[in-house]
Amino acid sequence: MRAPQFKKWFSKLPALNVRQRLHTLAALHPAAGLDQVIALIDQVGAAARRCPSCACDQYHRHGQANGLQRYRCRQCRRSYNDLSGTPLARLRLREKWLDYLGCLLESKSVRAVARQLGVHRNTAFRWRHRFLERPKYDRPQRLNGITEADEMFILESQKGSRKLTRPARKRGGRANKRGISRELDCILVARDRSAQTIDAMVGRGALTAAQLERHLLPWLDREVLLVSDSHGAYRSFARKHGIAHEAVNLRAGVRVRRGAAGAIHVQNVNSYHQRLRQWLSRFRGVASRYLPNYLGWRRVLDGGRVASAEQLLRIAIGVINSER
Ligand SMILES: [Zn+2]
Repeated sequence: MRAPQFKKWFSKLPALNVRQRLHTLAALHPAAGLDQVIALIDQVGAAARRCPSCACDQYHRHGQANGLQRYRCRQCRRSYNDLSGTPLARLRLREKWLDYLGCLLESKSVRAVARQLGVHRNTAFRWRHRFLERPKYDRPQRLNGITEADEMFILESQKGSRKLTRPARKRGGRANKRGISRELDCILVARDRSAQTIDAMVGRGALTAAQLERHLLPWLDREVLLVSDSHGAYRSFARKHGIAHEAVNLRAGVRVRRGAAGAIHVQNVNSYHQRLRQWLSRFRGVASRYLPNYLGWRRVLDGGRVASAEQLLRIAIGVINSER
């Protein structure tokens, strides 16, 4: 539309009644959402644009495709856009992405999202895991000071798998054996007193010192004071790596002790477990293979760490900087 025409059209807007205003807003919403998404993709891309094939950061502009600027690598001559190599590379309906991410921040069910956005529920489910692929790597650089660590267990699940690698459970959501067994997925959570949190699905059955080495050690500051329950794996892990360690003997009924550095307890990490468990229950069983995505999702939500759909989109297409 030409400028004078637009001016004339725009000047009539105050004459709209409520219904007409809502109608107009709804009509503009997808396009506005798309503009926002494209602008964000461009911003995130500009910060660290490099060729996904050879990692060269020299490029020139090379036309547009599907609404995105294309670039051509000066070294290998391949062309790419800012989504190439990300989990969102070939995801369609970009005008709906921000609304979708808003639904993720509200922990909406697949069904509710499908209804709200007018997409098929399979799409809503597939998108969930595309958008959650990277947030799970968005971790703090280092846990500092008093750092609580504890593990929790949830029943291993092969939900959605075509072939089970074990006999089906006769009575649904219960383990056959009592206590900690290979039927349970072990989730480690560590949290320092400034609420920085890391989590990992470390394997099945009881926690081992080797798992702590792999999943906890890279995120611990050298000066950290590790606090855990009296499980032997923490003790031998801490001794081997020269990490200051205090154990709380929960079985003996001790919950909090006074230490030189502050209160010695694992209550922050335990309440994190509680929130995680409660939140997971809404999904009525999560497949073990997707569990890391759900852990990352929970970490996004906890304490309102990620507050807007835009911020979540940046993480979903951003560079993975803390994958170790
Ligand atoms: Zn290249």
